[in-house]
Amino acid sequence: MFRHKNIVPVLLSLGILAAILALFSVISWSWCFLLIMLWIGLTTWGSFDIRQSYFTDVFYKKARHDGRSLALTFDDGPTPITEDFLDLLKSYDAKATFFCIGKQINKHPRIFKRILEEGHTIGNHTMMHSKAFGFLTAEQVILEINSCDAVVNDLVPLKPRLFRPPFGVTNPPMAKAVQQTKHQVIGWSIRSLDTVLSNEDKIYERVVRRLQPGDIVLFHDTSVKTLRVLERVLVYMKERDWHSVTADELLNLHAYED
Ligand SMILES: [Zn+2]
Repeated sequence: MFRHKNIVPVLLSLGILAAILALFSVISWSWCFLLIMLWIGLTTWGSFDIRQSYFTDVFYKKARHDGRSLALTFDDGPTPITEDFLDLLKSYDAKATFFCIGKQINKHPRIFKRILEEGHTIGNHTMMHSKAFGFLTAEQVILEINSCDAVVNDLVPLKPRLFRPPFGVTNPPMAKAVQQTKHQVIGWSIRSLDTVLSNEDKIYERVVRRLQPGDIVLFHDTSVKTLRVLERVLVYMKERDWHSVTADELLNLHAYED
């Protein structure tokens, strides 16, 4: 299988073989250089494309889904504007998954509870959402995950099992961390780029161009811009009789520890 744990021994063996052959001038040293570049390329690709499950198992869509449901997800809240997202979702009878940051839950505990009260799922999106997440050690990632869970558990009797890494970065420390904390990594099949693109039409087009039942869509409940795009996406879905369910329902997973 195309996984980090399988690729590394293969590349390492080929590297040693190439180095020996180059040492005896059987082949050129450029083969060693090529293998190193291949390793760097695969590692970078595996780290930044969450759909590859390169370092750990990642659910990013419901494969071979013939139903009418898909999962809208919202990262980085709760924020004051999350309430507007909740109102909008309620008016379309849509359920979603909110990957919350621990420090944001501390700022907006009432809104956090409202998310749950309205039947949505919450997942862990680390305590601080560090910009350096990709460079943290496994111990630091574990602390980030456990601290966020503790904030949740202070407010409600739940321990989240779903985890979404900040920026979608997956790497060996994160893989080790989620194995230890027993979280399930949830990615996405459609990235709205709502925090990157400023043009609402472009965000909307980007989402609906590929949208199908079974997809998991990444949004952020952090801007009015996304709120407006969300309303258009919900209309688009309604016209096709598609509906948004929580990620755990779509994927048939348990969102919280028993
Ligand atoms: Zn995030």
